[in-house]
Amino acid sequence: MSQLEVTLTCIECGSGIHVHPSREAKNAKCDVCETLNPVTFNEDHEKGIVKDCPKCGRKDFFKQKDFNRKIGVGLFVIGAVSVPVFILLDVGFPWIYSVFFVMVFLDILLYFILPLVVVCYKCQTIFRGVSNIDDIYGFNHEMNDRIVYSDHDFQGKQLDH
Ligand SMILES: [Zn+2]
Ligand SMILES: [Zn+2]
Repeated sequence: MSQLEVTLTCIECGSGIHVHPSREAKNAKCDVCETLNPVTFNEDHEKGIVKDCPKCGRKDFFKQKDFNRKIGVGLFVIGAVSVPVFILLDVGFPWIYSVFFVMVFLDILLYFILPLVVVCYKCQTIFRGVSNIDDIYGFNHEMNDRIVYSDHDFQGKQLDH
């Protein structure tokens, strides 16, 4: 049983497609435009191990916090709306500062509780529930630039300085 959840970007319409690895699956169907996106899952994927990208076949990945942009924007909106409300209610300045304090605190808290996801440099496929997460490095700008702009293939070797 696999815990791995893979999010591909549809080759046709760019929508996110969520799939669980299965060696039998040769395609992942887009819910939006019904295009079949070719995928190649292996035994590793079924165990939650990410070494090969099921979409592009590359071996270069980075990990990052699974930060949901909606949560970030939501927090910002709550903060931006509550300040004028507090001013209108004339609750006094300490309350206004406390809103910012709570926002910063929530941001920090979120950062610590958010799980890590693995992302393919080449095709941006996202992997959640990765069991070999400790083997994967954080985002490397130089690797990203060389993979994205020069189509370089590091073949799973981390670039070190
Ligand atoms: Zn699609
Ligand atoms: Zn890929």
